[in-house]
Amino acid sequence: MLLIPTDADPAAPRLLILYTGGTVGMAVNRQQQLVPMPFEKLARRMPELRRLPYRLELLALAEPIDSSNVTPQDWLLLAQLIGQHYADFDGFVILHGTDTMAYSAAALSFLLEHLGKPVVFTGAQVPVGRPRSDAPRNLLTALEIAAARHARAGTVRLPEVGVFFNDVLIRGTRAKKVESQQFAAFKSENYPPLVRAGIALDFADESIRLLPAAHLNVHELLEEKVAVLRLFPGITPAVVGAVLGVAGLRGCVLETYGSGNAPTAPWFVDCLREARARGIHLLNVSQCEEGRVVQGRYETSAHLRELGVLGGDDITSEAAITKLMFVLGLGLGEDDTRRLLTQDLRGEITLI
Ligand code: ASP
Repeated sequence: MLLIPTDADPAAPRLLILYTGGTVGMAVNRQQQLVPMPFEKLARRMPELRRLPYRLELLALAEPIDSSNVTPQDWLLLAQLIGQHYADFDGFVILHGTDTMAYSAAALSFLLEHLGKPVVFTGAQVPVGRPRSDAPRNLLTALEIAAARHARAGTVRLPEVGVFFNDVLIRGTRAKKVESQQFAAFKSENYPPLVRAGIALDFADESIRLLPAAHLNVHELLEEKVAVLRLFPGITPAVVGAVLGVAGLRGCVLETYGSGNAPTAPWFVDCLREARARGIHLLNVSQCEEGRVVQGRYETSAHLRELGVLGGDDITSEAAITKLMFVLGLGLGEDDTRRLLTQDLRGEITLI
């Protein structure tokens, strides 16, 4: 673990930065492509870190990665590291590439049950050290949020996994990357942002999950035999059959239209029925960025309910696939698995 010397006094909040890579810490190689560099170089380009009123320590992945290469094994490692250092730190900031940050934030939300401290993901669209980089602002604000406490009670302000980017902190299970060219890269889907960062930090306390105090439970298994099947007009039996026919498949997110609608063609219904007969859990998630799945509103979704497809309510696709991995990894029976898949576990759905 690397100690980052700062001006903080010994009673100042103690924060752990976990560096995984991403544009935030990238530089160009000989082929003029952006590749991740070690944290030491990044820290040298951010002298502001040393002036912070926090005690900062750092853990970095052995090899920093572009987040397009992130795997469930990396999520398990991050969750394990947070578990190991949980008692010693007041908050955690994970520096991560933006491409898959929403998936990683959702995965960590599920893996860290009874989380009582902030875990804030952040990164940048322009690498640190470049004149217009958004890295300093994003990282400094993420650290400030991770250290924040209620003035009088002294309690943690954000006992959640979140994604901080540009000027908003979004719940980890509600984040979606929507932009690759502008600084506002993330959107909070179907839920208000938890913090807005202007001149001051504005916490939306009424939207933040406050759970009864309990010991952190770090889960250690994710089921990887899952898939996402995105529907499109013209999709063929061969495509649907190939995805649902994957050997050993245990669960699949069905990305449907509108409020959860899908073709009623007999071949499609047969494919789903066969998948269900093989014990595959199907979770219906809308391709729409807003709104929710209501199976049965249209004739084109009533058949899904009858087939045992589970409605995903207003969940994001990122949270849905990681929820499938998490719930299936628990190794529960059919009924409990179906119950958990439709239950709100980490603020990923709003039940109505
Ligand atoms: N490809 C980069 C990554 O996800 C993009 C970024 O960080 O903005 O690692």
